[in-house]
Amino acid sequence: MTEHFDYICIGGGSGGIASANRAARYGAKVALIEAKALGGTCVNVGCVPKKVMWHGAQIAEAIKLYSPDYGFDVEQKGFDWSKLVASREAYIGRIHQSYDRVLGNNKVNVIKGFATFVDAKTVEVDGKHYSADHILIAVGGAPTIPNIAGAEYGIDSNGFFELTEQPKRVAVIGAGYIAVEIAGVLNALGSETHLFVRKHAPLRSFDTMLTDTLVEVMAAEGPQLHTESTPKAVEKNSDGSLTISFENGESYTVDCLIWAIGRHPATSSIKIENAGVKTNAQGYIPVDEYQTTNVPGIYCVGDIMEGGIELTPVAVKAGRQLSERLFNGKTNAKMDYNLVPTVVFSHPPIGTIGLTEAEANAQFGEEQVKVYTSGFTAMYTAVTQHRQPCKMKLVCVGEDEKVVGLHGIGFAVDEMIQGFAVAMKMGATKADFDSVVAIHPTGSEEFVTMT
Ligand code: FAD
Ligand code: NDP
Repeated sequence: MTEHFDYICIGGGSGGIASANRAARYGAKVALIEAKALGGTCVNVGCVPKKVMWHGAQIAEAIKLYSPDYGFDVEQKGFDWSKLVASREAYIGRIHQSYDRVLGNNKVNVIKGFATFVDAKTVEVDGKHYSADHILIAVGGAPTIPNIAGAEYGIDSNGFFELTEQPKRVAVIGAGYIAVEIAGVLNALGSETHLFVRKHAPLRSFDTMLTDTLVEVMAAEGPQLHTESTPKAVEKNSDGSLTISFENGESYTVDCLIWAIGRHPATSSIKIENAGVKTNAQGYIPVDEYQTTNVPGIYCVGDIMEGGIELTPVAVKAGRQLSERLFNGKTNAKMDYNLVPTVVFSHPPIGTIGLTEAEANAQFGEEQVKVYTSGFTAMYTAVTQHRQPCKMKLVCVGEDEKVVGLHGIGFAVDEMIQGFAVAMKMGATKADFDSVVAIHPTGSEEFVTMT
C-alpha cells in the first residue's frame, strides 16, 4: 500500500527541514525522509560542530596569545579535547530534540530511512512506498577523497568530528573553506598543523586582499602553509604515523591526515533515473529559477543543485521560498542567489559579500571600478605582543559608486557583515555608507569611514 502526501522532502538537512516545516505550517500533509540524523551536514558534521571547535580555538588564543598583556597571569594546565567534544555533542543532541519538537508541532511525518525513487511520484523507504504531488530532493553532498595510493589512510571532515583525541601532528590537504577552518582550529588548539595547498594560496576565489592577509597571519601564527604541494601518495608507517609524498618531491610524516579537497553530490544511490530527473556529469541536479528539475513536480535545493552556493542559509531560504510558492500561493516566490554574504571561520575570520576587485574589473571594466581600502591593527590584539592585522575593502562601480563588493579579514569580521549585506541588497552606494555615523571604537566603523 502506498501512503500519499502533498509533499515529500527527501533529506532532513538544512534545506529539507526548512521546506518541510514551512509547507506543513500552511496545512500541507508533509513527509520528511532522513537516512541518518536530523539536521544533516550543518548540524551534525558541518557548521555547528565546526563553530563550536572554532569558539574553543578562540578561547585557546585568548589564553595563550592575548591574556598575558591584559594582565592575566594564567597558567593553562591542560586542554581536554574529549571534554570539548562531549560539550559539542551534547549541544547537537539538544538541537536534535528541538528539531523533533518543531517538526512534531508542525505535524510533519518524519520517516527514518534511505529513500530511493520508484517513479516520478513515488519513493521507497525500507520496502514501503510513499507518493506525493510534489517531491523535494535535498540530499546534500559528501566529502571527496582523492584517487591516489594510500588516500584511505586519511580522514575527511566527517572523520575530523569523530576524533576522540587531539592529533599531535596533522596534515590538512585542500584549499577551501573546510581546509582553512579545520587547520586554523587545530593550530590554535595546539596541534602541529600543516596546511598543504596545490597552488600559490588557499581560498583562491576570494579577493586577493583576503588571501594575502590570511597567508601573512598564517606565517606569523600558523598553521604552517605549504604551497604548490599536490599530494602524490600516502604510506602508513609501522608506528601508525603517515608519510605523505608530494609531486614537488617533498614528504612529511604526521599522525593524522585530513582531506578537505571539496565535496560531491549524494545523488548516485537515490535511483534518480527512475524519476527521469536529469543530473550533470558530476551528479548535481540542474533546476530552473523556481528550483524545479526537468520533471514537473520534482524540485531540488541546497548542496545538490547545480551551480548553487553550498551554504546552510542558502538551502534554508531556497527550501522556504519553494514552500511559499507551492503551498502559500506566492507564485513568484524564489531564491535570489545574488549578494549572498559568507564568512570563513579562519583565524582571523573572513567576511565577504559580492564581487571581488578582480571580478568587478572583469565585469565592468577597470575605469568603472573604484576601490577603497582600510588596514589597521585590531585593537583587541594591538595592546599585546601578538598584533594582528585587520583589512577591509569596498569595491564600487559607476559614477554613483554602487557598492558591489565588501570584503574584510580580522578580529570580529564574522559578526560585522550581515547588516552591510542588507545595505548592498538595497543598492547602497559609497555615499550611503559615508552618510552613516560610525560606531566608535569598533572595527566595523572602517566600512563607513573609508576615503
Ligand atoms: P545536507 O545538510 O547535507 O542534508 C542532506 C540530508 O539528506 C542528510 O541528512 C543526509 O543524511 C540525507 N540524505 C541523503 N540521501 C538520502 C536519502 N536517499 N534518503 C534520506 N535521506 C537522505 N555552511 C554555512 O552556511 N556555514 C558554515 O559555517 C558551514 N560550515 C560547514 C562546515 C563543514 C565541515 C561542512 C562539511 C559544511 C559546512 N557548511 C556551512 C555547508 C552546509 O553544511 C551545507 O551547505 C548545508 O548543510 C547543505 O544543506 P542541504 O540541505 O543541501 O544538505
Ligand atoms: P571547496 O570547494 O570550497 O574547496 C576545495 C578546494 O580544495 C578546491 O577549491 C581546490 O582548491 C582544492 N582541491 C581540489 N581538489 C584537490 C586535490 N585533488 N588535491 C588538493 N587540493 C584540491 O570545498 P570544501 O570542501 O572546503 O567546502 C565545500 C563547501 O562547503 C564550500 O565551498 C562552502 O560553500 C561550504 N562551507 C562553508 C563554510 C562556511 O560557511 N564557513 C565552512 C565549510 C564549508 P585549489 O584549486 O586552489 O587547489
